[in-house]
Amino acid sequence: MRLKRNGSYTLHRKSKTKPNGKKTAAEEKKLYLEPEYTKARITDFNFKELVTLPREIDLNEWLASNTTTFFNHINLQYSTISEFCTGETCQTMTVCNTQYYWYDERGKKIKCTAPQYVDFVMTSVQKSVTDEDIFPTKYGKDFPNSFESLVKKICKYLFHVLTHIYWSHFKESVALDLHGHLNALYTHFMLFIREFNLVDPKETVIMDDLTEILCNSTEAQNHIKER
Ligand SMILES: [Zn+2]
Repeated sequence: MRLKRNGSYTLHRKSKTKPNGKKTAAEEKKLYLEPEYTKARITDFNFKELVTLPREIDLNEWLASNTTTFFNHINLQYSTISEFCTGETCQTMTVCNTQYYWYDERGKKIKCTAPQYVDFVMTSVQKSVTDEDIFPTKYGKDFPNSFESLVKKICKYLFHVLTHIYWSHFKESVALDLHGHLNALYTHFMLFIREFNLVDPKETVIMDDLTEILCNSTEAQNHIKER
């Protein structure tokens, strides 16, 4: 699916961008932490309740169904800014001071640009979630023993993609008026991985400032509603 872009995008582009098109992390104020933007959410739905395992539903089924849904939504969210994510603008998959490398099937470290990294992630996750031996959909077929560790790996990679959108393409998301979707998706995803301890907190610490604002405001809102 290709989403139509409006022509006004270039107006939002900051002249700070270096001639080679590379924006450094230091140049970017964390725009995504501005209250004006963190307030934007397409829904105030109770995400905490939404991620809780419903009684009568098998844990693995729940993890499989949610992981597949998050994969589709994060893939779609990335596709909205993918034309701005090129080998030139994003030469490495770097978030904050952390650089991510892809590891091939033999465990060999591969240096790649951000769009290549995202492509590796999406291709590999797509392969897993459609593999009947890993994400079984047929009645009577069991989940493999490695299922949980695979889900953890997938969530870690999806987290990297989300952080890249915030770190390098938040302005474009705002220009496209899609930051409300991004914030809602991020909040839902973070509460999900937190609920089932799917990603090591050491991995997510680089986004803790945003996570606290988005997830805590959700919890606070729900608290008010409950009263
Ligand atoms: Zn990028």
